[in-house]
Amino acid sequence: IYRDFKKTRGITMIMEDNNLAEDKMEEECGIFGVYSKEVRDDIMGLGYYGLFALQHRGQESAGLTVSNMGVLETIKGMGLVSEVFTDKDLTENKGNALIGHVRYSTTGSSSLMNAQPLGGYFMLGQFAIAHNGNLVNTATLRRQLESESAVFQTTTDTELILNLLSRYSRNGIKSMIVNTMKTIKGSFALVMLIGDKLIGVRDPNGIRPLCLGKINGGTYVLASETCALDTVDAKFIRDIEPGEIVIIDSDGVDSIKYEKNSSKAPCSFEYIYFARPDSTMDGISVYEARYQAGRKLWEQSKIEADVVIGVPDSGIPAAIGYAEASGIPYSVGIIKNKYIARTFIVPSQELRERAVAAKLNVLKAAVNGKRVVVIDDSLVRGTTSKKLINQLRNAGAKEIHFKSASPAVKFPCYFGIDTAHRSELIASQMTTEEIAKQIGADTLDYLSINNLEKSLCDKKYCLGCFNGVYPIYAPMGE
Ligand code: AMP
Repeated sequence: IYRDFKKTRGITMIMEDNNLAEDKMEEECGIFGVYSKEVRDDIMGLGYYGLFALQHRGQESAGLTVSNMGVLETIKGMGLVSEVFTDKDLTENKGNALIGHVRYSTTGSSSLMNAQPLGGYFMLGQFAIAHNGNLVNTATLRRQLESESAVFQTTTDTELILNLLSRYSRNGIKSMIVNTMKTIKGSFALVMLIGDKLIGVRDPNGIRPLCLGKINGGTYVLASETCALDTVDAKFIRDIEPGEIVIIDSDGVDSIKYEKNSSKAPCSFEYIYFARPDSTMDGISVYEARYQAGRKLWEQSKIEADVVIGVPDSGIPAAIGYAEASGIPYSVGIIKNKYIARTFIVPSQELRERAVAAKLNVLKAAVNGKRVVVIDDSLVRGTTSKKLINQLRNAGAKEIHFKSASPAVKFPCYFGIDTAHRSELIASQMTTEEIAKQIGADTLDYLSINNLEKSLCDKKYCLGCFNGVYPIYAPMGE
């Protein structure tokens, strides 16, 4: 049994959680980093606003580690960015570099143990790390390290990375990071502080996103999404390449390609659901990709209808695209409660259904007596669609044509998107006609895989949850 501390300061902490075994490793998070040659008084403020812009990527915990020329201080806690940090935290801590993390809650127990950044002391001084993604060789690595007497304090795969870094630290920073990155497998975007340096890494397939920007005057910023660069007034420089390490210090940005032969396969679900529409990742605007998906849905099946509505927030751009391509009027038809976080965290089916009603409500005036096309970004378990269709019928909709702006989700994700186990994925159990019946829709259509690829400009993406083909081998049970 661990104690529950709402907030922890410094890197020594007492952890909560009496349910370690149920902890799910997979997680999707937001990461942020800042480097300046000089100490900045406002560095915590930059970190705070950067994380705030990435809040949609994780609402379970938030943390910042600031480096004052190599002396690290971590502040982290459970809850939203606005709940975790106080005015004092932001004004009293100064530094030249910083990393931050927001963690997305999965159905496993949520605990401070998993809150990041994680850090420690080793041969090269103090260091800290924040990780977005999911490693797939965790069990093997952990067994191996434990058999060599390693001690772990958490069940996170991020602590494995800490351990490996320390193990490879003998020959200096570069060889330490390269060796560690060659040992871990899976999806990862990392920001690290090693002494007073900021380091960013992207996995060999670039599954998780990471970009680099610069604030006037020479302060560098790393972030999961460009929307966080905009928030701190940083200009986008470029995306970190798959298999690339950037070491940012007083000499500028040093780039090392540690993996040259891997194929680029960023996660398509980032564009479909996870990222903010005002972000651009690997050269593709998230909004544009969703909008094009909507246009393609119209090309796929031309349904006669009176109004097109979208499920907020991620279904809206596709609904606008569908309406513009078809000429059918677009209307706001579903209102989202602004004060509710994303609903997947709800553990049981009954509670999940209730959570949908608390989050989304139908606008009767927009749909009463009409033939309605309703577009959501995805259909996973079928909970949201079923609940919404019921609400639409009660509001007087005459016909309901449900469209998913992504293909049928049939396979689990091993790389960090919490899309449930295979048995819970409705499309892996039923045909499209059966699903339409189950959710109560007159018709149901999914974006085809081919059209998803087109809406992503035919670049290469990981489509594992749709076609079961993954960029790297993901052993079951790891
Ligand atoms: P479901 O209700 O199970 O069919 O899931 C589909 C709904 O969940 C859609 O409204 C999506 O916007 C949303 N969604 C899709 N993927 C995720 C995810 N990984 N985490 C949370 N919500 C998601």
